[in-house]
Amino acid sequence: MKINIAIDGPSASGKSTIAKRLANELSYIHIDTGAMYRCVAYLAIKRNIDLSDGETLGKMAETMDIALSVDGKVFLNQTDVTEAIRQEEISVGASKVSIFANVRSAMVRRQQKMAQAKGFIVDGRDIGTVVLPDAEIKIFQTASVASRALRRFKENQNKGLNSDFELLKNEIEQRDYQDTHRKESPLRKAEDAIEIDTSEMTVEQVVSKIISLIAERNYFYD
Ligand code: C5P
Repeated sequence: MKINIAIDGPSASGKSTIAKRLANELSYIHIDTGAMYRCVAYLAIKRNIDLSDGETLGKMAETMDIALSVDGKVFLNQTDVTEAIRQEEISVGASKVSIFANVRSAMVRRQQKMAQAKGFIVDGRDIGTVVLPDAEIKIFQTASVASRALRRFKENQNKGLNSDFELLKNEIEQRDYQDTHRKESPLRKAEDAIEIDTSEMTVEQVVSKIISLIAERNYFYD
């Protein structure tokens, strides 16, 4: 029988990378909930909506069309925004719009609908605590600020982009602060989640650790 797996943790801790690999290994479907908050920020900026106007943002969040394809593409009102929502401005914007209760409830409702069956790996900040409190496996994935900034730095380098390591570190710290101190569904480890500090781990090591956790708990994943 298939199960659901929730992966929460701070920004740039590699949740999406792990969730994608795991989905591939287990033939599960990955839902990247961060991409959905990014879509809210992206559309708001495009429409010149003030990112502190919770009421307007909430209404927009209710009506916008977000589709996540199985091959990892993100469509906003039928337009492919997969790359566009990865810009730094959108990362910062997503952190701002996600503080509002009405934005969150619009997204949570969609996420719960998407993952109402089993066979999903959902990553975000509030998956184990709010979106899928019944997920069979809950992971809280962390990494030190320095190692997260270094991963981003290398990612940018590989894309041929210049970045400032100290600036990346500051941005990560700021988003950590925002995500853990907001009133609505702040980032926190669910009581029954297993914490994995990936600072010194490779992607393969993290994936096999999660697969062994599934086996230890006698869950079958197909
Ligand atoms: O995971 P990612 O960095 O793409 O998420 C972007 C932002 O969206 C986060 O910084 C966080 O503020 C917000 N978010 C959230 N709840 C989620 C997923 C993301 O509040 N489940």
